[in-house]
Amino acid sequence: MLSFFKTPRIRGGVHAEEHKTETAALPISNDFPLPKKLFIPLQQHVGKPAEPLIMVGEKVLKGQLLAYSQGLISAPVHAPSSGVIVDVNDYPAPHPSALPIRTIVLETDGKDEWMKTQAASDPFQLNPEEISLRVGAAGIVGLGGATFPTAVKLNMGRENRVDTLIINGSECEPYLCCDDRLMQEHAEEIIDGVRLMLHGMETDHAVVAIEDNKALAFFAMRAAAEPYASIKVIQIPTRYPMGWDRQLIRYVTGKEVPVGCRSSEIGVTIHNVGTAYAVHKAIRLGQPLLSRVVTVAGGAVLRPMNVEVPFGTLISELFDFCAVDKDQTARIIMGGPMMGDSLPHTGLPTVKATSGVLALTQRELKNTDEQPCIRCAGCVSVCPAGLRPLDMANNIRINQLDAAVDLGLKDCISCGCCSYICPSNIPLVQYFKYASGEVMARQQAQHKSEQTKKLIDARNARMERIAQQQREDELARIAAKAERERLKAEQEAAV
Ligand code: SF4
Ligand code: SF4
Repeated sequence: MLSFFKTPRIRGGVHAEEHKTETAALPISNDFPLPKKLFIPLQQHVGKPAEPLIMVGEKVLKGQLLAYSQGLISAPVHAPSSGVIVDVNDYPAPHPSALPIRTIVLETDGKDEWMKTQAASDPFQLNPEEISLRVGAAGIVGLGGATFPTAVKLNMGRENRVDTLIINGSECEPYLCCDDRLMQEHAEEIIDGVRLMLHGMETDHAVVAIEDNKALAFFAMRAAAEPYASIKVIQIPTRYPMGWDRQLIRYVTGKEVPVGCRSSEIGVTIHNVGTAYAVHKAIRLGQPLLSRVVTVAGGAVLRPMNVEVPFGTLISELFDFCAVDKDQTARIIMGGPMMGDSLPHTGLPTVKATSGVLALTQRELKNTDEQPCIRCAGCVSVCPAGLRPLDMANNIRINQLDAAVDLGLKDCISCGCCSYICPSNIPLVQYFKYASGEVMARQQAQHKSEQTKKLIDARNARMERIAQQQREDELARIAAKAERERLKAEQEAAV
């Protein structure tokens, strides 16, 4: 049973400047013109990249499967519109490094012609496994930014007999309003998606948690959930990072997710409101995940908006549509300013994780004039993971990465609260991102060298077996020859 009114707790966090008022009032725009070319990366999710099954030159319809999922944790990719495949190659990824990633390029034909879809007339008659299968086939991943394949989570929820489904409507990152607008405008569809997820997980109770700075979304969702006793809609305090799954679980259920465990192991699963909406569309309409609502905001955006955008749209086209002043843009961020990625340029595509794209002016960026630490312990008090950021940073500065790991570096979620609060402008989170990357690279190098050593040992063992066999064969040959000669001598003696 739910226990969400039991001792709610919030650990750390900050009241970040919201910058939401203007954008939260803007209805979702469906006027974005279909781009002439879409650049669709095959890796838009956690897990293995999808594998293309189309050829260059092939005509495709909207919603058609372009690349299938590989292995247990992966997600397929579909055509966001109709047109012709013109390339399958490496193109820059929407990542701070912009390193190339395998990408399908679709030249749209302007018809936006749908393939035949498979809608479920009565989805509650489908068995729960069938719900997961359809969600997986629709390419749905966590749209809150985690991009973990949703079908895998539904299956884990069922297998672990999860008793509480939390729907994350916190949207705690500054500037972002896409979930807020989705809840205001599509509350009934989201609640339908929640009911379908409950059915898919064979779970009885859901809690939709919405930060209390989104009153209109809360009222819309509460009205939509009113007929269903299994779904509660609650308001939670506005505090970043309230949307972090461990924070939200602790607040809603009073349970702590142990380090190294998945939330399903303690009976809780979290999905984002956008994911619930995508599940509704996949099951009720048979539509795969092809687009999403993106918030375009920041001081350099002259026409900020929440806009429905097909995956693979170049940010440059989105910025043209929203009249972004390039001269005023000091930083481009995909996602929110706290946990999002700074992008080097706008020639990068939107993907399933793109909740927002920000064009920030110099005035909106934090002062980078770094001063010595004054040991105020502010960074310790705001850390939601209960870490000591200052001590970790000191160790990273002198390249003592193992000591930083011992202090909990791997538990850091890069939320940026410590950097945000630091009066000395010490870029703490940048240290942790750098160190986490280094630790991962070292582990990969060590894993590779261990694999290489294993291969060499196996090869040496095989060579030794072959040599041993050859020696034994030689001895056997000599013994046989001696036996033949002995027999021959005996025969000659008998004659
Ligand atoms: S918040 Fe900044 S100044 Fe204060 S202890 Fe942490 S690192 Fe030092
Ligand atoms: S970035 Fe890491 S160390 Fe800093 S507050 Fe967030 S979790 Fe704690």
